[in-house]
Amino acid sequence: MNAEIISVGTEILMGQITNTNARYLSEKLASLGVDVYFQTTVGDNFERLKQALSIAFSRSNMVILTGGLGPTGDDITKEAAASYFDMPLYLNDEALAAIEKYFQKLNRKMTKNNEKQAMFPKEAIILPNDNGTAPGCIMEKGDKAAILLPGPPNEMVPMFEKYVIPYLKEKSRDVIYSKVLRFIGIGEAALEERLSDLLESQTNPTLALYAKEGEVTVRVSAKAKDENEAKKLVEDMCGVLISRCPDEFYAYGDDNSLVKVVCKALMERNLSISTAESCTGGLLGQNITSIPGASQIFSQGIITYSNSAKMQYLGVREETLKTHGAVSCECAKEMAQGMRRISNSDISVAITGIAGPSGGTAEKPVGLVYISLAHKNGVCVKKFNFSGSREKIRNYAVLNALNLVREYLNGTLDKQGEKL
Ligand code: ATP
Repeated sequence: MNAEIISVGTEILMGQITNTNARYLSEKLASLGVDVYFQTTVGDNFERLKQALSIAFSRSNMVILTGGLGPTGDDITKEAAASYFDMPLYLNDEALAAIEKYFQKLNRKMTKNNEKQAMFPKEAIILPNDNGTAPGCIMEKGDKAAILLPGPPNEMVPMFEKYVIPYLKEKSRDVIYSKVLRFIGIGEAALEERLSDLLESQTNPTLALYAKEGEVTVRVSAKAKDENEAKKLVEDMCGVLISRCPDEFYAYGDDNSLVKVVCKALMERNLSISTAESCTGGLLGQNITSIPGASQIFSQGIITYSNSAKMQYLGVREETLKTHGAVSCECAKEMAQGMRRISNSDISVAITGIAGPSGGTAEKPVGLVYISLAHKNGVCVKKFNFSGSREKIRNYAVLNALNLVREYLNGTLDKQGEKL
């Protein structure tokens, strides 16, 4: 099954709002196995919208429209779609009663022009709006269907999830199964290169890469006649993807964040962790303690921002700071080792770097961060050169510190040794 999206609104064309509806719908449709080959944006103009509908229906049997269902004269989506299908609009008493009820709930008076929102073709399937006044609808003619949804995302998303997803599932004879794989420590371009042959030849399952801050996810979706068959196609492909990036794959699922995965692994192994932070100012400790049950694994964290604090609390040597500076491999190591000594924890992680925007030099630019991990058999350190804002650099540092813990727990850190 394939569908097109038409976003209606002059505001979108003028760049006044970002078209998050199209992004959301495309992502959802992909996960439902519905192919989207075209997205169109058109202003609040009756003739141009009809033209966009006619182009879209020449390529797809299903068109999803958002926006332009409001009560004012420039809201023309329903009128244009009904005119395209040649279906007259009638006042629908049930829809009108629902709009009246919505106004009563808000203690506001309904105006006459809201009646426009209760006008539908007789054949339309009306989609109730639980979060606003404009009901959506589905107009079907022959093998064509137009699905009309309101513009505000807080109205559009719940309506899509509650009414459109079941409708699409019923329409599709295929079962769709999908799974998300999460990768860390590899950029989107590098992952794409490693999977290039699979990405080029993909048909079923399909692969979709998404770059998030500091990590990349891949959604694998397959269509088949029954769930077992679709599941098998997905599982086989997941096996291939993981075998291509065994060290970088860290979890399945949309909401399995790295910090969750790392804390769970520490809990399962009954290992404690402590943190010594400079440029991240406690962000790593904050991330770990945001996980319920962190008290089982987190013993303590210290923010040592100044050189004197690094010496006083962690025992970093004055000589080290003088010779190599606070942002150095040596200092990071001594911070992690010192932290482990005073906390008695199984693992200690230290972060020292230059988050910017100022403070960088040619030798030590903004974004230079050293992350060290001390454990029972020694200490290791990695050097990173992050780019971006102060906030981004701090977030990347935390993510990579967590990744260092993950690599240590997986036993892959030894393979890499001191990666400088
Ligand atoms: P209403 O009943 O509120 O008038 P509507 O269906 O007529 O809803 P529009 O008037 O087109 O929708 O848009 C209302 C608001 O919804 C816009 O000002 C904008 O904030 C948001 N919106 C509309 N389209 C989009 C879109 N494609 N992506 C994100 N937000 C959107």
